[in-house]
Amino acid sequence: MSNPSYARVIIDRSIHRELDYLVPEMLAEKIGIGSRVRVPFREKSALATVVSLLDETDATGIRPIEAVVGDKPVLSLKLIELSRWMSAYYCCPIETVMRSLLPQVIRRAEVGWKKQLVVSAAKPITPEELEKLRRRAPRQAELMDAVVKLNGPIPAAQLLRQTSLDNQTLRAVEKRGWITLNEEAVARDPHADEVFIASANLVLNSEQTAALKVVEESLAAPEQAKPILLHGVTGSGKTEIYLQAIHSTLARGRTAIVLVPEISLTPQTVERFKSRFSEAQDTVAVLHSHLSEGERHDEWHKIHAGRARIVVGARSAVFAPLENLGLIVVDEEHETSYKQEEAPRYHARDVAVVRAKMEGAVVLLGTATPSLESYHNAMQQKYRLLNLTERVDNCQMPLIRIVDLRLERRKQKVAAILSEKLRAAITSRLEKREQTILFLNRRGFSTSLLCSNCGEARDCPNCSVALTFHRGAARLSCHLCGHTAAVPKKCPACSQDTLIYAGFGTEKVEANVNQIFPDAVVRRMDADSMTRKDSYRETLHAFRTGKIDILVGTQMIAKGLHFPNVTLVGIINADLALHMPDFRAGERTFQLLTQVAGRAGRGETPGEVFVQTYTPFSPSIQFARHHDFAGYFQQELEFRERCEFPPLNHVVLITVRSAHEGRAQLSAETIARRLKEALPAEFILSSPTPAPLEKLQGQFRFHILMRGAAIMRLSRLVRATLDKLPLPEDVFAAVDVDAYQLL
Ligand code: ADP
Ligand code: ZN
Repeated sequence: MSNPSYARVIIDRSIHRELDYLVPEMLAEKIGIGSRVRVPFREKSALATVVSLLDETDATGIRPIEAVVGDKPVLSLKLIELSRWMSAYYCCPIETVMRSLLPQVIRRAEVGWKKQLVVSAAKPITPEELEKLRRRAPRQAELMDAVVKLNGPIPAAQLLRQTSLDNQTLRAVEKRGWITLNEEAVARDPHADEVFIASANLVLNSEQTAALKVVEESLAAPEQAKPILLHGVTGSGKTEIYLQAIHSTLARGRTAIVLVPEISLTPQTVERFKSRFSEAQDTVAVLHSHLSEGERHDEWHKIHAGRARIVVGARSAVFAPLENLGLIVVDEEHETSYKQEEAPRYHARDVAVVRAKMEGAVVLLGTATPSLESYHNAMQQKYRLLNLTERVDNCQMPLIRIVDLRLERRKQKVAAILSEKLRAAITSRLEKREQTILFLNRRGFSTSLLCSNCGEARDCPNCSVALTFHRGAARLSCHLCGHTAAVPKKCPACSQDTLIYAGFGTEKVEANVNQIFPDAVVRRMDADSMTRKDSYRETLHAFRTGKIDILVGTQMIAKGLHFPNVTLVGIINADLALHMPDFRAGERTFQLLTQVAGRAGRGETPGEVFVQTYTPFSPSIQFARHHDFAGYFQQELEFRERCEFPPLNHVVLITVRSAHEGRAQLSAETIARRLKEALPAEFILSSPTPAPLEKLQGQFRFHILMRGAAIMRLSRLVRATLDKLPLPEDVFAAVDVDAYQLL
């Protein structure tokens, strides 16, 4: 068979086209589908990915490929197929999809393995030679004394450290031929200095056993298997099922991906996987955004070379280049952080389902609070539903009490941060030496600053939101664009000394708790207090070992953490999430309450949760209180049906933005008009409106919302319409398919 003569490539540039190049004879052996290559493009050269090999082409002016990057293809045929699907579904150019599929450090191919110099003895040195050396070059002799004692090669740095000698001496001895120096690659392992104690499979309870049985049946016949939705209350032992399912997957000679929301990808989580599969140091690779470029390079190659067989990671780990994929676990499948908020705007759970189907793998979605989408799929028999209704060891579900802040306000005259009931509950925990978590989904000290004289509020100059006052940092800051400003002493508008700080965030809760409970050890955990690399780990450790009585924090503490001695959780304000202008606000509130409540009572003593709210009768709060997911789902689905929102339809959101308000609006209106002509009646098109967040980072924003069931078709029509419509240079239109962020 002759070698194919042409390669079709996708260039790492937005040109929306695939191009053909000649494969030079001398590179033919090394180029395959999925190879990275350097090609001439316009006047320069560019990096590109080979997507197919051809015998002939009708393109003209064909130029040869210049070089191959790396020694083997980086993308499998299946991953290229997945990119094509994503491009069509998410209405996004394929080169943008490709950019997400390969980490930057792999695409650029500039960062390589970390090299280290290794010393090995070359020819033996005679005692006479050594004596002569001792007189003429005592330091070289000293080095040779150490070399003679070696049992094998040793890193040069280590040898020099032991002998306190320098590089010059090393090179001199090399010149004389007694040693050789070689460069060898070393892997940077982010967990190299941690010891993992091997853990064995636990004996499953009957619900877990039944669930695992279904997963194993699917693993035995993956081609017929449906995606599995594992709905298990917090603490029901879902992770143990993942671990045992992975075990079976490996036993079948296949590999596994575990997706975890970035925020839950804690050392604790990684440890659970690393220690269960610790027989080989390399079995588990970890991918997340805090890796250094070098670490990411090494973890990625460890997977690509087939040494790692399990990948634990955040969103983008769904693209991990594992061969022979057998299982994808998506933990906390309802988490909105699986949705990428920049192009390609993909949802990792949905991509996982599609990838699993393409590769003949099983997909296992786990959560205590399924998304409406996944649960609906289960009700429609598209997914297989498995339930874990009880906590492991029959721990009780926490008792949830609602505190009506309206009554509280009448009693106390001012809006206190802690209601009397919550205060009393904290007091009793402190007496019993049990721990408390206080949750508030908002950082900072006070969340707005206004003048009581002239009414002027301090808003961000770039965004339509108020600036937050941070007392520790003594600055005002915008949580959307990062703009900061000095704290004014007087109102900048009317120069009166009449500024009022209103609203509160975690920083003020911490101060308030410190004031009320001066003897308690209080610590705060949010993006402001966790700036050092180790602070997260240290604080969690201090909390786990009982050195902290009360932990105040944002969603950072809401997820997945397991503390047996926490018997009280206070949700300071449940209404924050509820009043967002977003059809998923109720769903998010239900999920948040359930998840946060799940932090309480995971040990011997049952937990108690206080939910403070001004809207005690809202369904999300009431159903969460009764741990009634099914009831919640029914009533929420009715609401979604009435409004024709997901899960019954898909939504596509176009955001048109520009620094120039008039041009943004005009473009939005033009786009909407063209869409109206292009879209058949089965699709619902809303008129363009200013976005709820009208201004962000200096850009004025308009929304066009579309809904429909046939999403591939809708995507295609939207793409075609936008492609035909040139926008002014300073106007941008972003398409978000299955949008989660509606602000
Ligand atoms: P979930 O992921 O559902 O919140 P986890 O898997 O974290 O729950 O389990 C909670 C705790 O129960 C963990 O400490 C886990 O080791 C333990 N556990 C899980 N299954 C069992 C079991 N069958 N027997 C004993 N302990 C278990
Ligand atoms: Zn701002």
